[in-house]
Amino acid sequence: MITGTRKPMEEIRAMIAPFGRVLVAGCGTCVAECASGGEKEVALLASQLRMDAKLRKISLEVGEITLDRQCVYEFIDQLTPFLENYDAVLSLACGAGVQAVAEVFPQWVILPGLDTGFLGETREAGLWLENCRGCGECRLHLFAGVCPITRCAKRLFNGPCGGSRAGQCEVSPEVQCAWHLILERLERQGRMDCLEEIYPPCDWSRHQGRGPRKIQREDQRA
Ligand code: SF4
Ligand code: SF4
Repeated sequence: MITGTRKPMEEIRAMIAPFGRVLVAGCGTCVAECASGGEKEVALLASQLRMDAKLRKISLEVGEITLDRQCVYEFIDQLTPFLENYDAVLSLACGAGVQAVAEVFPQWVILPGLDTGFLGETREAGLWLENCRGCGECRLHLFAGVCPITRCAKRLFNGPCGGSRAGQCEVSPEVQCAWHLILERLERQGRMDCLEEIYPPCDWSRHQGRGPRKIQREDQRA
């Protein structure tokens, strides 16, 4: 899932300052899972904005809506009946959702209420960990399901750097050494032979060096 964290109130306040009617728009998928942009967070932010405006004696109308998804065009249409009543939309979606909405409604002001983070997993309640950088050429099968591009601070493909202490990374001691995990799992699986091959570094120019990527599948097109 894509993670995000809500922008600081001062930043949001500055963004919405020119507008008297703001629609806070959440997204029901990833950002809801990471408790930053779902229905609950929309309600919380909307009431904070109303309270803030009241305290500062500012006239501000705040609406609330949560779309099923902000990054899929058929769901973005859920905004259509509401837009006329607002000067700006404060989106609590990830950056992809904000841009998709702005693409559909280019005449409307769409503001980002979140700082989009990373591709990650929910490890436990309140803890989200980055585990994929979307390199475009997944090699998890070679590394026992642990991504060295994302989880090794030095992005090493051919074994540990040797600096790990008690299974923790020498660069970020609060995280586990990715290679410690890879070796442990390969050994448990009886697949240590995976280490015999030399893996070339990721060729980022193929994947991310040519501007935004796209996936187009003819079998999925209407
Ligand atoms: S190798 Fe790592 S960064 Fe690349 S797609 Fe797989 S998990 Fe993501
Ligand atoms: S200690 Fe482990 S995770 Fe950290 S940089 Fe070295 S090999 Fe990578």
